[in-house]
Amino acid sequence: MESHHLYGMKHRNLALAENLSLAANKIDSVKQTEVAISGGGIIGLSAALELARAGVQVTVFDRARAMAEASSAAAGMLAASDPDNPIALRPLAMLSARLYSQFLAQVEELSGERVPIRTRQTFQGSPELPEGFTSLTAEQLQAVAPGIVCGGLHFFSLDEGSLAPGDLAFALPKAVRAAGVSLVENTQITRVRERDAAVEIETTAGRWTAGKFVHASGAWAAQLSGLPVAPRKGQMVMIEEPRHASLKAVLRTPEIYLVPRGDRRIVVGATVEDAGFDKQIDNGAIEGLLDKAASLWPPVREARILESWAGLRPATPDALPVIDALGDRSWIAAGHFRNGILLAPATAQLLRQMILDEPADIDLRNFSSRRFASAAQELSVR
Ligand SMILES: Cc1cc2nc3c(=O)[nH]c(=O)nc-3n(C[C@H](O)[C@H](O)[C@H](O)COP(=O)(O)OP(=O)(O)OC[C@H]3O[C@@H](n4cnc5c(N)ncnc54)[C@H](O)[C@@H]3O)c2cc1C
Repeated sequence: MESHHLYGMKHRNLALAENLSLAANKIDSVKQTEVAISGGGIIGLSAALELARAGVQVTVFDRARAMAEASSAAAGMLAASDPDNPIALRPLAMLSARLYSQFLAQVEELSGERVPIRTRQTFQGSPELPEGFTSLTAEQLQAVAPGIVCGGLHFFSLDEGSLAPGDLAFALPKAVRAAGVSLVENTQITRVRERDAAVEIETTAGRWTAGKFVHASGAWAAQLSGLPVAPRKGQMVMIEEPRHASLKAVLRTPEIYLVPRGDRRIVVGATVEDAGFDKQIDNGAIEGLLDKAASLWPPVREARILESWAGLRPATPDALPVIDALGDRSWIAAGHFRNGILLAPATAQLLRQMILDEPADIDLRNFSSRRFASAAQELSVR
């Protein structure tokens, strides 16, 4: 009787100890951070950099490798003055263009890597010459793009830069780490719950709590935020400039663009497709891009193809990003569509201002999440 009782006590004590140690393990295994960011693309990383420089402890999670999705697939045009941009994008685009050299200087200083501006001029072709612009003369056009065929378009010059996103994909993760950000790769955030005291985050590598949370998961942003951000596929092709012809500025029309990298490589882009999360290359689409490029700049016909790829632009129904608070402790910066490389520095600055309760540099109403209230039912990408 006694021995049975003792055995029972021992058993209960063991079970209690086991439970306590399980609970302790559970507490130990929940890691903490001041701000957690979902997505290590250019938007998530530039926001992390901005917050870290303001003294905030930041952890960025990426389901795969940082800067390996849209942010490295881009052409790299800083196209703040593209007449095809929505008008409502202009204040954000202009702010970001102004911040760009400072942003790159910071990235270079922290990473020790160069991210050079590859071109400083864009020759834009348009069916109508916008007010305030002068058409380029045939001599001006031939000097920069010898052999160009204008095809009835008016061409004018824009003082716009471009960079190689590969340079940034190499330097930016190094820069954020040097600024003290913890970058957790190959770790997907699977669930986020905002509580009164903290945000609870479940990932494929354990649980975290954060004081604040930022959704910056690009084309995947709908999955955690429920907002209508969907992937729009872009296929691109890189060619080698033929020996006898050299392109000295970006050539862009509503149909096609050619972006020289300054090292005899030219990027030709891009398709805009609704194909879900598919990133397959379709040879017909690549040939279509090369045909359009060759009818604008015929030397393309003799160019060697170096590589082709596809990326997923994060798109909202009105082609404007969503940069907003989603709760007391959560924010979103996603849907930068065709301009995320350009818009990253301004987005990061505005996020910092919202999160640290500082006044915002520009009016953010056009980028509010509330504009989708009626579009919520259209959500089809989860
Ligand atoms: C073909 C093409 C050409 C382009 N050209 C230009 C251009 O010339 N100029 C320009 O300014 N912009 C351009 N863009 C647009 C630009 O690339 C995008 O707007 C920008 O890269 C978006 O950045 P992002 O950080 O929001 O998304 P991404 O770079 O896609 O990053 C999102 C990240 O989130 C991660 N993620 C997703 N879900 C989760 C999760 N649950 N948990 C953890 N991580 C997650 C993903 O792995 C990914 O790394 C182009 C895009 C394409 C495709």
